[in-house]
Amino acid sequence: MRTLAIHADAALLPRGWARDVRITIDAGGAIAEVLADAPTGDAEPVAGALIPGLANLHSHAFQRAMAGLTEARTAATDSFWTWRELMYRFAARITPEQLEAIASHLYIEMLKAGYTAVAEFHYLHHAADGARYDDRAEMSERIVAAAAHAGIALTHLPVLYAYGGFGGKAASAGQARFLHGVEEYLAMTEALRSRHRGLAVGTCFHSLRAVDAAMIEAVMAASPRGPVHIHIAEQRQEVEECLAWSGQRPVAWLLDHAKVDSRWCLVHATHLDDGERRALAASGAVAGLCPTTEANLGDGLFPAEAYVAEGGTFGVGSDSHVEVDARAELRLLEYGQRLRHHRRAVLPPDLYARAATGGAQALAREAGQIAVGKRADLVALDRARLPLANVPDAQLLDAWIFASGPANVRDVMVDGVWQVRDGRHPREEECARRFAAAQAALLA
Ligand SMILES: [Zn+2]
Repeated sequence: MRTLAIHADAALLPRGWARDVRITIDAGGAIAEVLADAPTGDAEPVAGALIPGLANLHSHAFQRAMAGLTEARTAATDSFWTWRELMYRFAARITPEQLEAIASHLYIEMLKAGYTAVAEFHYLHHAADGARYDDRAEMSERIVAAAAHAGIALTHLPVLYAYGGFGGKAASAGQARFLHGVEEYLAMTEALRSRHRGLAVGTCFHSLRAVDAAMIEAVMAASPRGPVHIHIAEQRQEVEECLAWSGQRPVAWLLDHAKVDSRWCLVHATHLDDGERRALAASGAVAGLCPTTEANLGDGLFPAEAYVAEGGTFGVGSDSHVEVDARAELRLLEYGQRLRHHRRAVLPPDLYARAATGGAQALAREAGQIAVGKRADLVALDRARLPLANVPDAQLLDAWIFASGPANVRDVMVDGVWQVRDGRHPREEECARRFAAAQAALLA
């Protein structure tokens, strides 16, 4: 790749919207210069308003193939836990080839919906009965290949999953694909790092249900750098079980037993008491919010207004992929607060910018802003198309998030390379065919 210069009529910079913005991108895909009120000159004109791309901070790619198929009312008390049983049955059947096909298609959907990077929270490690593949990182390699094929930036998060419940409860047969001991887990993450130079491989604990304090300590001691993710307090039942086991709520327990700092992303920090909320905001960690999935699974509402007012950092993810749309997560995040507080416009006006920088932090990616030194991860919103055509810069993101459709994402760049042009990805038909075939086989 060579140096590239692009020029947009409008771009969202850290200080706000600017006009006539010329961005120079170096050969490595980082932003080298940003000039406002600049002539186009020899730069490539961008049709649309440029915003920093959003990191999707929480993904279980395989679940995209079951999205929409678990909405039937199956029981009087359909819940997260009945959904999880269906998910386990589905997960048990997926082959490495099918995972790659599903993820490739999903990652293209993400790009077309305004996500430029993804954190893949990956626990589908082994064959269905728990037998190891010849290459123990086989399933991880499929995720890495899918991200490369789609052109999305990947932070890969192999998950440590050892138990079936709090207090070292034995795992169920449905969890056999997920399980590792600490040494095997660390060997796999180390192998991935050494095979793929430049790939971000983070540390990940499935949940406090799935690991114990000694495991967290051992893995953290061996992992001095990079992001650390965990599912933390998604369900009220999970909070009650944690209290029964330890006498503490999950976030309080984690803050007491691990050095939670800006490396950490606490996914589904849904259920917080006031003290946990303040301590999490002060820790510098990212709250990983997945509003469409949390709504779909009946998890609960994150106390976003107070958390953000206390200086808490957050980002968003599409998690189960019942919907793959950056707008939808931010819209529902705000709407949840409106429904809870009976007011309008509850969260700060720079909601998007906060989610972009928080998401980048969660992925440990130098991105999330159009600024020198950041990765050139950019999204161009189509202003030639309604409803964005007559919207002033200051309201453009509001109009996009609350009033537009996905078609308003026109062009998407990752690491300085255009992956989506005029709403199209060059591999979308091929990947859609492979996804459809994989899903058909899984449902057969
Ligand atoms: Zn999750």
